[in-house]
Amino acid sequence: MPLVDMRDMLNHAYHNNYAVGGFGLINLDFLEAIVTAAEHCRSPVILNLVESHFEHFDFGLIMPAVEHAARNATVPVAIHSDHGTSHASAVRAINLGCNSVMMDASLESFPVNITQTRHVADMAHACGAAVEGELGYVGGGEGENAAKYPGEGVYTAAEEAKAYVERTGVDCLAVSIGTVHGRQRGRTKLDFGRLKRINDMLGIPLVLHGGSGLTEEQYHKLILNGIAKINCYTELSDIAARTIRSNLQPDTGKGYIETMLGVRDSLREQIKLCMHLWGSAGRAAEILVQCRPWQPVEHVIIYNTEGVSTQQVEAMIAQGHKSLSVIPGVRRVFAGWAIAEPARYRFCWLVQLAHANVIENYHTHPEYRTFTKQCFQPITHDKISISFVANQPAVIPDMAGSASAISSRIIYNGGNSL
Ligand SMILES: [Zn+2]
Repeated sequence: MPLVDMRDMLNHAYHNNYAVGGFGLINLDFLEAIVTAAEHCRSPVILNLVESHFEHFDFGLIMPAVEHAARNATVPVAIHSDHGTSHASAVRAINLGCNSVMMDASLESFPVNITQTRHVADMAHACGAAVEGELGYVGGGEGENAAKYPGEGVYTAAEEAKAYVERTGVDCLAVSIGTVHGRQRGRTKLDFGRLKRINDMLGIPLVLHGGSGLTEEQYHKLILNGIAKINCYTELSDIAARTIRSNLQPDTGKGYIETMLGVRDSLREQIKLCMHLWGSAGRAAEILVQCRPWQPVEHVIIYNTEGVSTQQVEAMIAQGHKSLSVIPGVRRVFAGWAIAEPARYRFCWLVQLAHANVIENYHTHPEYRTFTKQCFQPITHDKISISFVANQPAVIPDMAGSASAISSRIIYNGGNSL
């Protein structure tokens, strides 16, 4: 249950004058530090997976751990794909378990930014996911993250922002008002007048990128003027690196574990500080009551075949894997056959969809229609097809192997469709 709809989470923050931290994570130390800090502070939290970091770790490999941590957290969590650069990367992020995506076409021209972001927003909303856009450009300052954002920043214009939000349908907007990605150069001068105008015209949650290293007063004014999500990575990266450097003084030939000692603890303390500073501490209970949970749907199909060879069935299954896996919001495709004979039904499909919203798009997608019409329906009969969503609470077994308690309810009966 604690994986919740990010739109609801941010709207709550926006209307109650606080901001939720979107903390960039690059490994399990960061993941554990973020989630335990949130639980300690009873704070909602956003786990940020930044696309430009994927050259340093395997996005597909870390996502099962991220999702496991989010679903087992006792505070509300959203999983956000940050600075996505294409429609394909947004589809991949949702299919891997993100329930929010950012489309960053901020370096493109205004019309191209709108077209590309609208394309992603239509797809993501059909999957039930939240969408963040960026208008203006937040450039790089100093530090390891800065080089990924070359050139000077471009401030967001309020009138353009209004047209951009109306035409793209984004749920929240990253604005450029003076911050930089990476470390700030000296004391950051923020354009609060511009932020106020944007907020007055838009009335939706605004996002601050380059949120590291501002003063308490600056954060306070930002939040009062519509900032409801603050991205933070550089401060965490620097704190982790400082801890490692101090572990290596003096260099006594320490191994990996001793070198990394204390990294997670120092990250957690910094994140707790942010949660108190931004006002999200103590808000978890309200969010859990007021926000929609984010739950996958299990689509179950059992069927028999008629008048075809085993090879033909296998070919149909192989094609089904290929066709269904590319549909946005399809997270997993499993095909199998009964291990005990005789069985009333000999074959099954299990298709996991990211969210109930995906069902309609799934059944109308050209890949689905072509596959069912040309490959599936001609050789199958006697089909039963039902979609299930987990009842609350859906408990995933923890690492200690405690028993799971996942019950389910039917949310849709698809008759004899696949
Ligand atoms: Zn950013």
